[in-house]
Amino acid sequence: MPEDQLKQRTVYSKTNPYRASLIERYNLCSRESNKETYHLTLDIAESGISYEVGDCIGVAPANDPKIAEKLLKLFGVQGDESVVTKRDGESLAFHEFLLRKANLVQVNKKFFSKVAEKAHCKKAKERFMEMLGASDPDLLKAHLEERHVPDLIEEAGGASVEPQEVVDLLMPLMPRFYSIASSLRTHPGEVHLTVAKVSYELLGQPRGGVCTHYLSERTPLKQPEIPIFLQPHSGFTIPKDSMAPMIMIGPGTGVAPFRAFMQERQAIGAKGKNWLFFGDWYQDGTFLYGDYWRQMHSKEGLKLDLAFSRDQESKIYVQHRMLEKGKELHAWLQEGAYLYVCGDAKRMARDVEAALLQILAEHGGMTDEEAKDYVRSLRKTGRYLRDVY
Ligand SMILES: Cc1cc2nc3c(=O)[nH]c(=O)nc-3n(C[C@H](O)[C@H](O)[C@H](O)COP(=O)(O)OP(=O)(O)OC[C@H]3O[C@@H](n4cnc5c(N)ncnc54)[C@H](O)[C@@H]3O)c2cc1C
Repeated sequence: MPEDQLKQRTVYSKTNPYRASLIERYNLCSRESNKETYHLTLDIAESGISYEVGDCIGVAPANDPKIAEKLLKLFGVQGDESVVTKRDGESLAFHEFLLRKANLVQVNKKFFSKVAEKAHCKKAKERFMEMLGASDPDLLKAHLEERHVPDLIEEAGGASVEPQEVVDLLMPLMPRFYSIASSLRTHPGEVHLTVAKVSYELLGQPRGGVCTHYLSERTPLKQPEIPIFLQPHSGFTIPKDSMAPMIMIGPGTGVAPFRAFMQERQAIGAKGKNWLFFGDWYQDGTFLYGDYWRQMHSKEGLKLDLAFSRDQESKIYVQHRMLEKGKELHAWLQEGAYLYVCGDAKRMARDVEAALLQILAEHGGMTDEEAKDYVRSLRKTGRYLRDVY
């Protein structure tokens, strides 16, 4: 893409985000499913942001105000102290820093050392000093991994660390990225996101992912509050050739960009064939945008293969469905199909690639090496595209 065009699409940035308002938010999963994945519609009509399908949105979240309040008490300060951030030299109140700029989840060694020095509880101070002096660095590492910033200060019985010292020592709160789930042609002035709420336990207490809780619980409707910016794709988009077939593998929130792809292809009247592999826990309850996909299947000829892992005793995932349809999948690739994978990087992307290699061996008669070469050439020619996280 030409430089000036790219610049136009990215006027807003991490340091200069657009404040979007939330038009709509609803849970795509049923209450019984024990999962919460939200559809969000953001208003960008006045922003001038022009995105392409395959792009992501960066969100600069805010921490939970209750956590910021708790920290102020533990540090024994009011929150109106003026501080300056190291990174961008911004001057702001300490309370504001804790809300918008501080990573309150990860504790680094420098911050821990300062807390050890200034801890109010004598016993905790001794313990912390011991950990700092221990010959095995894993002890300290494990301790820090199990604690967020407020847990540590609480354990220290409070700590007289100066606000500016806190600012200098804590790590910055980083933006989170979300695949765009809409096409501007279908939804002018809007950007849609699909956000899976992250929840976990730490020290026996329930905890929430910073950005997913911010987006699913703390952002009010119709207030220009959510700081966003565009993260343009680097090739992960629909084929230029509108006749080229697309195979999309997107379990869970990995399906988000493919909703955008299908909307775009429909809007431009692309005639290429489309095939979606989707998977999640249960058909009833976690089939994200199920009605849309069923409609695309019955009215637009979308080929649809579903893998719901918890609907039967043995776990079935998208790679199993790929293997079942291996012959046809291989034929599509031979016809010039583009293969897209989006979603979990840890296991899914690896398992999908293993299934692909197996299909090439079984249905393409390739040796392991030939199958790997084939995948390499798909990648090189931009026909095997992944957006995994
Ligand atoms: C290119 C890209 C596209 C993406 N697209 C999407 C998308 O479309 N939809 C989507 O939902 N997500 C998407 N993500 C992921 C998203 O950016 C966030 O990473 C995700 O929403 C979690 O953010 P969070 O702030 O809520 O969680 P965080 O607060 O960052 O926590 C993240 C994880 O850390 C764990 N964790 C943190 N601290 C501890 C601890 N002390 N002990 C144990 N576990 C801990 C939690 O279990 C959690 O899984 C994408 C990521 C990338 C890079």
